[in-house]
Amino acid sequence: MNPRLSALVATARVVSIPLRTKFRGINERELLVFEGPNGWSEWAAFPEYSDDEAASWLAAAIEWAYGYLPTTKRTQVAVNAILPAVAEGEVAKVLSRAGKFETVKVKVAEPGQTIGEDLARLLEVKSLYPETKLRLDANGSYEIAAAMELIEKLAGEGIELEYFEQPVQSIAELAELKIEISKRGFATLIAADESVRKSSDPLAVELAEACDILVLKSAPLGGVVSALEIAASSKLPIVPSSAMQSSIGLAAELHFAASLETLEFDAGLGTMNLFAGDLVKDSLKPVGGVLEVRRPELNNSSLDTFKAEEHRYDWWIERLERCGELIGLEA
Ligand SMILES: [Mg+2]
Repeated sequence: MNPRLSALVATARVVSIPLRTKFRGINERELLVFEGPNGWSEWAAFPEYSDDEAASWLAAAIEWAYGYLPTTKRTQVAVNAILPAVAEGEVAKVLSRAGKFETVKVKVAEPGQTIGEDLARLLEVKSLYPETKLRLDANGSYEIAAAMELIEKLAGEGIELEYFEQPVQSIAELAELKIEISKRGFATLIAADESVRKSSDPLAVELAEACDILVLKSAPLGGVVSALEIAASSKLPIVPSSAMQSSIGLAAELHFAASLETLEFDAGLGTMNLFAGDLVKDSLKPVGGVLEVRRPELNNSSLDTFKAEEHRYDWWIERLERCGELIGLEA
């Protein structure tokens, strides 16, 4: 059953957690946490998101604090390391924090950077970790021609990709790129992320045959149960991933990953190494490329350590009231 809005506001705290490296153009991750019968939960819809989009994240956060949660099918989940769009010279330092890993996801197509910088970063990763599986994420920021250029340049260097996540923005562009890839004789797999979570129909991208893999995050899809339903109705392999949550929100994504019938690829849940702080006593950081499935306990003092400014608290509470109304919460 849904809580009243007043119950959410009663325990709500807003925090801003510093990141080690700029990610998605931000240096701090701002989010709201609240407590329910299941424990603490996190509402981490990015500030620029619309109320409609943020309302799905709120439904997910409420499920994690108050809702029924399916039983998990495994106790450990293998995860990838993640490399933000840093300069070539910073690759070694950033990846050294990830410990041991078998797969690394590298961010590319950062606004203001060139394909040359992306290529240099990727070559550096491959020279430091020749055995690692390499996946890219462009967050939809390449044009078709640029994505194709990078695929060809990597092939020219003898580098094979595990897959290329959201190289271009729209479903139509993804479909066109896939045709282009096979026309030129490549076998690069395409994963869809934004095309799943920002679409009114999460499986439209699959229906359009515009991708080979689906990246699913439970928060934008309204929670663990609804993300599992989407996974069950898809024929494609699923890569459960996080959305730069703290360990409180990451635990929900981990629960989703651990509840999936099959896990063919390493999950995109190795994001805690990008944070310079956390809200729990024992962070969900992978050990040997593996995350133990658990719900970590809140470290109460972290809520003061990372407390956001008063006006940001007001902003989040107003947003909570608007989004709560959208999903039918009573005052
Ligand atoms: Mg992505």
